[in-house]
Amino acid sequence: MPHISLREVTKEYPAPRRGNRPTVAVDHVTLEVERGDVFGIIGYSGAGKSTLVRLINALEPATSGSIEIDGVDVTQLSAAKQREMRTGVGMIFQRFNLLNSRSVRRNVEYPLEVAGWKAGDRKKRARELLDFVGLADKASAYPEQLSGGQQQRVGIARALAANPEILLADEATSALDPETTDEVLDLLARINRELGLTIMVITHEMGVIARIATKVAVMERGKVVEQGETYSVFTNPQTTTAKRFVRTVVRNLPDGDELAELRSQHEGRFFTISFTDEGATEARVFGALARAGVDFNLVYGGVDAIQGRVYGLLTIAVRGDARAVDEALSTIGSGVTIEEVAA
Ligand code: ADP
Repeated sequence: MPHISLREVTKEYPAPRRGNRPTVAVDHVTLEVERGDVFGIIGYSGAGKSTLVRLINALEPATSGSIEIDGVDVTQLSAAKQREMRTGVGMIFQRFNLLNSRSVRRNVEYPLEVAGWKAGDRKKRARELLDFVGLADKASAYPEQLSGGQQQRVGIARALAANPEILLADEATSALDPETTDEVLDLLARINRELGLTIMVITHEMGVIARIATKVAVMERGKVVEQGETYSVFTNPQTTTAKRFVRTVVRNLPDGDELAELRSQHEGRFFTISFTDEGATEARVFGALARAGVDFNLVYGGVDAIQGRVYGLLTIAVRGDARAVDEALSTIGSGVTIEEVAA
């Protein structure tokens, strides 16, 4: 049974004025998140990501469709049962949402107070968690005294306080600089690995997906337009939206202007060469070209690691007799895709 399962989930907001159309924020979304997944949801602003999170957390009712956590449809639960369910779901936010009047430790204790834990137990649990996120020495500090990255780690400790099985991270790194973003993402990956939480990561940044998500769904105008293993979406995106997101991270194909510039600098025919870790390595491809006597220049692209796996996408300029070049390229073998770039 999937940990989280959405079937044909739709959320409509009524039009602000009569005669206007309602906003369909989430449009027949179906997806399954397995226990232990780090599941990424990516989309531009307004795609419906935050609404989806609020639906999963039963903070708002869906217009139609079912949302199951461990096989229980949360849309059908009583308000009391929904509150209970929500204690099993930790949330972290873009703006951290810490209480400035409370110390770091008492921020982490907050959900435990709400859940009626005894003071001694709360304190012990908060210390444990601050230790886990590397902020044991900041227990008595106040949020304002901390950097953004530290504040988000407090937010994460607070989200973990009541031992949830699911963590929802809504643009959790969007307010952070790249270095701090990586630290927070590494912490989320550690939470997934060591504590076994299922994590859903909502983001508009493909770098976030590349770094920690094992699976990804691409949203556009309320719909999931593409989903799959992160590696396969990165190496073989199908939709224009997915391709645009992939390009922000794997800038391995020249666009029209870049191509024109490259052609003015390099003679010969242009080919793109792509391979995955099942296929080949850069060395094998270059070795085969060299052995075949092809005179080539690498003009664009390179090799990336996505989820620890190799993905190569290169553009080469090749000079020489057309027949000899074609023959040489044909000897490179399986697992490597070679396409000529139309002149
Ligand atoms: P994202 O998180 O991807 O930026 P949102 O889920 O916030 O997207 O928004 C999706 C769409 O739903 C947008 O058009 C937004 O204006 C609309 N929307 C979101 N929340 C509400 C609301 N409470 N009332 C009316 N419209 C809303």
